[in-house]
Amino acid sequence: MSKEHTNKRPIDDLTGFQVLDTFKKFDQRDDIFCRSQWDSKVKSDKAGAFFSSYFMPNARSRKTDGFSQRDYALRNAAWHVTNIFRDINRQATGRKEGFFDHFTTHDEGWAEPYSFDSDDQATHDIRKAAKLFKADLFGVCEFDERWMYSGIYSEATNDSKPMDIPDKLPFVIVIGESMDLGLTETVPSALSGSATGLGYSYDSVTLITLAQYIRNLGYRAYASMNDSSLGIPLAVQAGFGEVGRHSLLITEEYGPRLRLGRIFTDLPLKVSRPKKFGVKEFCSVCDRCAAACPPKAIPNDEPSTRIYNRSNLIGVKKWTVDAEKCFKFWVNQNTDCSICIRVCPYNRDYSRWHNRIWRKLAGSPLRRLALWLDDQFSNRIRKKSNSWWSES
Ligand code: SF4
Ligand code: SF4
Repeated sequence: MSKEHTNKRPIDDLTGFQVLDTFKKFDQRDDIFCRSQWDSKVKSDKAGAFFSSYFMPNARSRKTDGFSQRDYALRNAAWHVTNIFRDINRQATGRKEGFFDHFTTHDEGWAEPYSFDSDDQATHDIRKAAKLFKADLFGVCEFDERWMYSGIYSEATNDSKPMDIPDKLPFVIVIGESMDLGLTETVPSALSGSATGLGYSYDSVTLITLAQYIRNLGYRAYASMNDSSLGIPLAVQAGFGEVGRHSLLITEEYGPRLRLGRIFTDLPLKVSRPKKFGVKEFCSVCDRCAAACPPKAIPNDEPSTRIYNRSNLIGVKKWTVDAEKCFKFWVNQNTDCSICIRVCPYNRDYSRWHNRIWRKLAGSPLRRLALWLDDQFSNRIRKKSNSWWSES
C-alpha cells in the first residue's frame, strides 16, 4: 500500500468525519476478535468456549429463554454458509476468508474489459446485479486508504501480514445486508444471533457472486467482508447513512440493522453522495444505547478522540465503544449481543408510513418530540424468544 496519510480529505466535508493529524491506520491484529487469539488481556478459556459454541456439539445451551438447544441450532445454522466460505482455504493456505482475508473463491474472468457507454450505465448495471444477488443496499465511493488496515491478522503467526488487496483499484462498491427485525427484538439471546449469522451468510454469497460478475466483465474485483478495511467509514462515504452513538451505522432504510461488505474494483463507476438525515443531532439528545448497555461500553458524552484500549481507532473524533467491555459481555453470555440495536429508536420497520414520518421528525428540530414518541409508543423491552418461535 502507498504511504500513510494523516490529513483531512475533501470527502470529510460531506461525511462530517473529523480526522486529526494524530490519525493512525488500524492494524487488524488489534481488532478485539483477533486479540482474543493472542492478547492475554482478552484471551481466555471462556472466550475460546464462546467461539466454539458456534458449532453445535459445543453450544453449551441452557434452560434460560433464548439459550436452548433450538435457539443455538438456528443461530449456528444461520452462520453455516459464511463459515463454509471462511474455511474453504483455511487448511491449505491459512486464509480465513471474509473475516481476516478477502475472498479468493473466484474463477478466471474475461481478458478484455467490457465497454460500457458511460460510468452511469456501468453503475446502473452493477446496482441491478447487486439487487439480483440480494444486496439490500448498494453504494459506491472512491478508494480511501485511511480506512484500509495497515496490516492483516495472521492466525498462523499471531502477527500482522501485509495487505494483499492491490492499491490501484480506484472504486469501492459497498453492499448492505439487512438483519431481521423480529430476531433483534429478542436480544440478548442465542436466537437473536441468527440475525447476525444470516447477515454474514447472505453477505458472503452476494459479495462473491457480484465480484465474479465484475471479473466476468473483464475488470478486477476483490470481495471483502470483515477483512481488509474498516467497513463503516466506507459505507458512510458510499452514502449509506451516519454513525450513531453506539458506533454502528444508522441507515434510512434499516436503521442500525445492517451487515456490510465491500468490493474493491477498477471498473469505472459513478460515486454516491454521502447522506445525512439528522442522526448526529438526534444522538446528541438520546442516550438509550448507552443507558441500556449492560457493561457500560458506550459513551454518554460528546464525540471525542478518547480511546479505551488498543482496539480503538486513533485520531478520529467520534463516539467510541469500549470493545474490551463489550466483548467480555458477549463471552459471559455465550453469544453476541445487540442490545444497543434493539433499544435504538432508529430500529424500526420503515416499510410502515408512520415510521417514515417518525424518521422525518427525528431529523428535524422536533427530535426531542420524536424521542418522547419512541418512549411512549415503541416497545423496546426484550421479546421472549419463545414468543418469536410461536409467531406464525
Ligand atoms: S453489543 Fe451489547 S455490550 Fe456491546 S456495546 Fe452494544 S449493548 Fe453494549
Ligand atoms: S440509541 Fe439513541 S443515542 Fe444510541 S445510537 Fe440510537 S439514536 Fe443514537
